[in-house]
Amino acid sequence: MSDKYQGFVSSPIGKILVKNLGLPNPVALDRYTDGDPLVSGTVLVGGTGRLAESLPGLLDLLGIASTTALEDGAKVKGIVFDASGLRDAADLVALRDFFTPVLRSLESCARVVVIGTPPELTKGGERVAQRALEGFTRSLGKEIGRGGTVQLVYVAEGQEAAVTSTLAFLLSPKSAYVSGQVVRVGAHGPATTTSVDDWTKPLAGKVALVTGASRGIGEAIARVLHRDGATVVGVDVPQAASELQTLMNELDGDWLTLDITGKDAPQRIAHHLQEKHGGVDVVVHNAGITRDRKLANMAANDKGDRWTSVIAVNLTAPELITRELLDQKVINDGGSIIGVASIAGIAGNVGQTNYAASKAGVIGFVDSLADELDNGITINAVAPGFIITQMTAAVPFATREVGQRLNAMAQGGLPVDVAETIAWYANPASSAVNGNVVRVCGQMMLGA
Ligand code: NAD
Repeated sequence: MSDKYQGFVSSPIGKILVKNLGLPNPVALDRYTDGDPLVSGTVLVGGTGRLAESLPGLLDLLGIASTTALEDGAKVKGIVFDASGLRDAADLVALRDFFTPVLRSLESCARVVVIGTPPELTKGGERVAQRALEGFTRSLGKEIGRGGTVQLVYVAEGQEAAVTSTLAFLLSPKSAYVSGQVVRVGAHGPATTTSVDDWTKPLAGKVALVTGASRGIGEAIARVLHRDGATVVGVDVPQAASELQTLMNELDGDWLTLDITGKDAPQRIAHHLQEKHGGVDVVVHNAGITRDRKLANMAANDKGDRWTSVIAVNLTAPELITRELLDQKVINDGGSIIGVASIAGIAGNVGQTNYAASKAGVIGFVDSLADELDNGITINAVAPGFIITQMTAAVPFATREVGQRLNAMAQGGLPVDVAETIAWYANPASSAVNGNVVRVCGQMMLGA
């Protein structure tokens, strides 16, 4: 499941061919290792909005060194620009004036975060300027190169302190494969918690349910949530029992083998979490399947009923399990529910009408609950792009190659990239991060 092309371009002959033929040249992305500082370098802070003054203090809290002035010849690992002060189209020139002189000072795998105000909470010229930030950040994400990422974080007024966990994620190598994204903080109501005692173990004392935990992305989610201090309860089908048990033993976790589409699955999961753990704090609906076929060939009586089975696993089961956990009050106050959608649910894909419908439905599920949940419970989703797992190993070679290259990073992502994004949502300090769908796709060229 390795990326053979990436191995080839770093060989001597590969380097020559890349240079002469203009082939994509994926760089080895920085990734986070437990114990590392969040940022290995300095972050430049600029702009003149609601957050500009407090930003150096917030970064300091995370152990991130920052500066407001770049000395001649100095390099920086990241930039945070507060654009929440831009009031009309004419003000946008501040972006050019600030960024153009400093972009060449960025180290590789640099992180850029632009901060704004949610346009829907503003009016007139300010709304125009704040919305314009989206085009700016998405384009800079495609220009930055060398493994760099660029994001836009819209912070609602009064929620300035609630942005810390989001900065910790977006400035660190944890967001290696996340770029060109727009995140909203506090747009669905105020944060209940803005800080945690130990930023390296934000989930200490918390219980996390992860479905489809025995392998692939689910395994990575279990590992990362465990690293962050959670007790993980893994769920998978009985056929995967032995892998699931081995992993959960390694992580000092707990497990439950069942098919999430089983009639009594929601009740069994709720009962298990309540009886053995006294509730749950983080619910990750990761289990998913593909049964690809063009719609014209997807008869109701085809093998395994491709349509019904995909909708049942990917969409109906998360809905029913969530409903049961909420109705039985098994999700603790301040908890988080996390869906796993897909870029296919946003951009569409040939042969995946069933899968894309299920994954777009996951996004609808987030939208439907974001304003309804109370007691500080949040709901968000990740939408992975091309992530190298057994699921994508089944994709034909040529499609797989194209899928891996057609993004700003020119490479596939790793399961850990999805897991880190989920860990950011799960962090109790992310209580103002609600109703978001963040793509983990290296800024795929196709789709939104
Ligand atoms: P995978 O096939 O490697 O793992 C899926 C896991 O879910 C397996 O352990 C499987 O046994 C479990 N599962 C399937 N049906 C189940 C059921 N009915 N009950 C309980 N467990 C069940 O897949 P993956 O690549 O790790 O994908 C994980 C999630 O990420 C899925 O929701 C998938 O749709 C999504 N996703 C993956 C990619 C990618 O590129 N790999 C891209 C977008 C979205």
